[in-house]
Amino acid sequence: MELLQKTATEQHKALINKEISACELVEASIDRINKLDDTLGAFNSTTFDTALETAKIVDKKIAQGEKIPYLAGIPLALKDNMNLKGVKTTCSSKILENFVSPYDATITEKLKENLVPILGKTNLDEFAMGSSNENSAFRIVKNPYNLSKVPGGSSGGSACSVSASEVTLSLGSDTGGSIRLPASFCGIVGFKPTYGRVSRYGVIAFASSLDQVGPITKTVEDNAILLEVLSGADCNDETCENVPVEDYTQFLNKDIRGMKIGVVGSVEEMLKGLGSEPYYNQMKEFLKQNGAEIVPIEIENMELALPVYYIIAPAEATSNLARYDGVKYSYRNKDAKNLEEIYKKSRTEGFGREVKRRIMLGNYVLSSGYFDAYYNKARALQAKLREDMLSAFTKCDVILMPTTKGEAYKIGEKVNPIDAYKEDMFTVGANITGVPAISVPFCFGKNNLPVGMQFLAPHYAEGRLYRVADFVEKHKEGK
Ligand code: GLN
Repeated sequence: MELLQKTATEQHKALINKEISACELVEASIDRINKLDDTLGAFNSTTFDTALETAKIVDKKIAQGEKIPYLAGIPLALKDNMNLKGVKTTCSSKILENFVSPYDATITEKLKENLVPILGKTNLDEFAMGSSNENSAFRIVKNPYNLSKVPGGSSGGSACSVSASEVTLSLGSDTGGSIRLPASFCGIVGFKPTYGRVSRYGVIAFASSLDQVGPITKTVEDNAILLEVLSGADCNDETCENVPVEDYTQFLNKDIRGMKIGVVGSVEEMLKGLGSEPYYNQMKEFLKQNGAEIVPIEIENMELALPVYYIIAPAEATSNLARYDGVKYSYRNKDAKNLEEIYKKSRTEGFGREVKRRIMLGNYVLSSGYFDAYYNKARALQAKLREDMLSAFTKCDVILMPTTKGEAYKIGEKVNPIDAYKEDMFTVGANITGVPAISVPFCFGKNNLPVGMQFLAPHYAEGRLYRVADFVEKHKEGK
């Protein structure tokens, strides 16, 4: 156990100093998954054999005195909407229950090149639609801090697996908060990179203009190291931009003196009376006391980011999900008598309630009578929010926001979709505007559950986020 509680950085040092072997590390991870996962429900499937093969290669290299990549041998879990060749990618949906990935996602290839052992695929809300992991077609993931609470979603399995030290690293995808929200509920670090920083090739699309893959880790340092591995242009994803990849660790171990931290008036208005309000205020105080300058800024209509998101995301999801028609690779109803019945019955039985709700919402906002009233209006507002966000960054270096409304809530507590959607009120802004954002653990709330805080930066200024989050991690109260 102790071995798995270490950070990737510590595990790397132990590996190269020959205090442990990569096989021992991966075996420890396998044991722990076997012991805990029936209870936690974080994994949809495991790939222990190939993880051990990778570990053996790492050990051989170390024995031969070869230099190994920094994350070689460090146990990692992939969200089950990312392709790993020869292994199922289910998206926690019945419709893809038996779909085997024919190729590796670009991010998976990068992990393989770096000899990172992949221990398995993690549970999520079906097609990444949700904030609590309760929408998985298979089973509910538990919050490791309190098994009666949700872990957050949609990357709940990824967050849970790192938080419970089943693995050291995991990947999530974030369309409206799905990395940051579960990271906050599970007391770990979650990072949504700039849209275009990380390739989406081989990642099952939810809302293509918003989806972004990012690292989930115990520490900011591990996160910075993993993001560097994942980042970079990809000829298979034209939205993935050719912007130089930085060594993000150069931003760590700095102070925050003189850093301008923006606080948004309309966000503070939204926060009034919510569970995370006192912790947000404590964070402001903490930043000020450590020499940062708190700069009040305004981003008009920030409260509309949520409705804008819940128009654009379902619209894109509707078209992305049209391909699951029972014909080529998805679940097919066996009794269907003609093509129309194949479509109808397969989709009716294959998709869960929330996914169907999004398909209907998406079709509604795209239908000819409502296109201008909903979809076009949402796109216009998105453009305005993006402009305002960029102009806010002329006045500050980063923006502070809470990640969530409060601490993790009880499984089954938020069954009303509107209540569930409201959980995303502070996270969707970064996706709508394409900017990077991090959630870093800050404190424990009144229910004794973790509370994370969020920072946003201009496009491709991920380094600033690592600088401030690393400082928070190392200097917050109780450290
Ligand atoms: N909770 C949001 C939704 O349900 C975001 C999900 C995500 O980021 N994948 O759409």
